[in-house]
Amino acid sequence: MTRANLHLHLTGSMRTTTLVEYADRLGLPQPPPLDPAGTHTWPEFQRRYDLARAVLRTAEDVARVAREAIQDDAACGAVWTEIQIDPTSLAPVLGSPEAVVEAVLAGVDPGRGSVIVASSWARPPEHAERLAALAARYATRGVTGFGLSHDERLGRVADFVPAAAIAAAAGLRVVPHAGFYEPAGHVADCVRLLGADRIGHGITAATDPAVLDLLADRGVTIELCPTSYAPLGVVRGVEEIPLRAFLAAGVPVALGTDDPLLFGGTLDDQYALARDVLGGTPEELDLLARQSLAAASR
Ligand SMILES: [Zn+2]
Repeated sequence: MTRANLHLHLTGSMRTTTLVEYADRLGLPQPPPLDPAGTHTWPEFQRRYDLARAVLRTAEDVARVAREAIQDDAACGAVWTEIQIDPTSLAPVLGSPEAVVEAVLAGVDPGRGSVIVASSWARPPEHAERLAALAARYATRGVTGFGLSHDERLGRVADFVPAAAIAAAAGLRVVPHAGFYEPAGHVADCVRLLGADRIGHGITAATDPAVLDLLADRGVTIELCPTSYAPLGVVRGVEEIPLRAFLAAGVPVALGTDDPLLFGGTLDDQYALARDVLGGTPEELDLLARQSLAAASR
């Protein structure tokens, strides 16, 4: 089934074999596994993410991770992969945020994917504005979106309006993480104030019919990553993920993998969970695949 993966972070996309190779080369520890049924805190997750990122030391390391991520998605039927990166996280290693973006772009075949430059809810709005401007400079060279990642509880949506405006003016998709911990109103704010084209996760939106209507009316796609929620305790199990509520409300959904290195799920696995645990019919799985392609920046 042809599909796109619209929610994937560079470090979290790393193959386990590549992580082991790089970590061994440097004598660095590998991140301990997440308990799939656990209720890890965000800092516990972030610590593992930071350990994984620490093995990346050269532009070729970064390009290879991106290249392999696209290959792994392609093996699951993806014809398009959007790789998200906060370039400041690797700038101390590669020299500048621009060098990081260029390293990721070097691994992305422009016919098979693109790059989303992401700032963080945890960083000041001015930081997001600088990264939005950086993303805008690469808007004709493979960067197609501007994201806001990390723990959404650490920022105020209204403060990020200028950054989103910079990105939108450059023709970039605005794709914040939202509605992971915060209630449905957080998702609505990201749509209304930031003009979000897609929402990373957004699972709390399903609790509020008015927010579901807003998403459906504006055609805002929810990037749903079934393996990401139980380990962080925002649902007790995959069966609680509100895929059916989104489908019933006519909200477009694109299944993504988020951080397969840490959560352990391929793109095929996300569709399998939608089928086997969430009751997705063949027609609904086809719809999800079509919606992922429709929301892609191809
Ligand atoms: Zn994410």
